[in-house]
Amino acid sequence: MTTERPLTCAVGLRCIDCGAEHALEYVLQCRRCGGLLEPVYDLEPLRRLGPAQAFAGRGLWRYHPLLPIRSADDFVTLGEGATPLLEAPALAKSLGVRRLLLKFEGANPTGTIKDRSSATAVAAARQFGYRAISVVSTGNAGSSIGAYATRAGLRAFVFCYEQASAPKLAHMTAVASDLVLYQGYYDDLIRLWDRMVDELPVFDGGATRNAYKQEGKKTLAWEIGEETGYRLPDVVVYPVAVGEAFISGWRGFREMHALGWADRLPVLVAAQSAKANPIARAFASGGPLEPVKLSYTVAEGLSCGDPAAKGEWVLRILRDAKGLAVEVEDPAILDAQRLLARTEGLYAGPTGVGTLAGLRRLLAEHALDPGQTICCVISETGLKSEAPAGARTGQAFTYERLVALVRERLGA
Ligand SMILES: [Zn+2]
Repeated sequence: MTTERPLTCAVGLRCIDCGAEHALEYVLQCRRCGGLLEPVYDLEPLRRLGPAQAFAGRGLWRYHPLLPIRSADDFVTLGEGATPLLEAPALAKSLGVRRLLLKFEGANPTGTIKDRSSATAVAAARQFGYRAISVVSTGNAGSSIGAYATRAGLRAFVFCYEQASAPKLAHMTAVASDLVLYQGYYDDLIRLWDRMVDELPVFDGGATRNAYKQEGKKTLAWEIGEETGYRLPDVVVYPVAVGEAFISGWRGFREMHALGWADRLPVLVAAQSAKANPIARAFASGGPLEPVKLSYTVAEGLSCGDPAAKGEWVLRILRDAKGLAVEVEDPAILDAQRLLARTEGLYAGPTGVGTLAGLRRLLAEHALDPGQTICCVISETGLKSEAPAGARTGQAFTYERLVALVRERLGA
């Protein structure tokens, strides 16, 4: 008997708080208790197909059976996913770690991990007949949602904070139909914005509630699974602002485990900026999640002082699964950025190296065993951050001067 690969194994949405089942409709919160929803899948067809036959194609939509989109006509792609999982021996040596893997999300079409969730968010917007999508962003989500909406022929209302870096602003201006700048921080606008998308015919492209959007980031975990032959790393470090990547990563690893393809689950680490650390604080104190007042952090994409229900979800996973949370200061983030660039040649943005700075701190505190295999998610390219380009004073050369310069530096 052969089993056909289903377009989607999704059978509904379930409330993470009360367990109430919902149909695969456009619903953002539980109709019974207001809790967050997660897609539910019937894994049996994939179990029958087995790990070698379960997926076909390349990139994010390779995992379509485990994404909640019912028609391939609604898929949208710019070539996201299939990002490199790099061995990092020089950096591992420098950190004193036996084996370090880097999942480099800067290789996505708009340079960040956001493209995974933008692809499924825009596909879901199409699935439910929307002509417009919106997001509140520090820059990365805005350029990504803007690009995918445009690709699919939708309008994108991108609300971006005025401190966004020049390259991010240029990117959003280029790709998004409607870019609006706002004053203050993410938290200042997000509550008003949540009400707006409930009232107007605009699809929720934000990180706080939409199960369809979040699910796209699960594919990162599945790529780690396939690339390692389901011998998962001992530890995976995720950047956490609202928590989409972390939560969906946990969901992905649990699916591999439930299918019997992975024999164990990795320890997940949530890395936060010390300027936006509500989850790390609550985890350290053992107390409830309390919002923090934001101030500027170089890791712009980690700017969220009040992750609300998503933050509670992250905390629940951390506590149930015995994960770890860590917060890092801006100088440590910039130091990790330089170290990564000079050891492995990988230029990542500050948001992208929060995980690496977090790993260094946990190693220094002996909270992690350096003999394990550790994977850090590097969530953005460095090409979108504003940094001084260095001295711009050039010099004129004769051939003799040119040779003398290189010879001197080579020490030859
Ligand atoms: Zn509920």
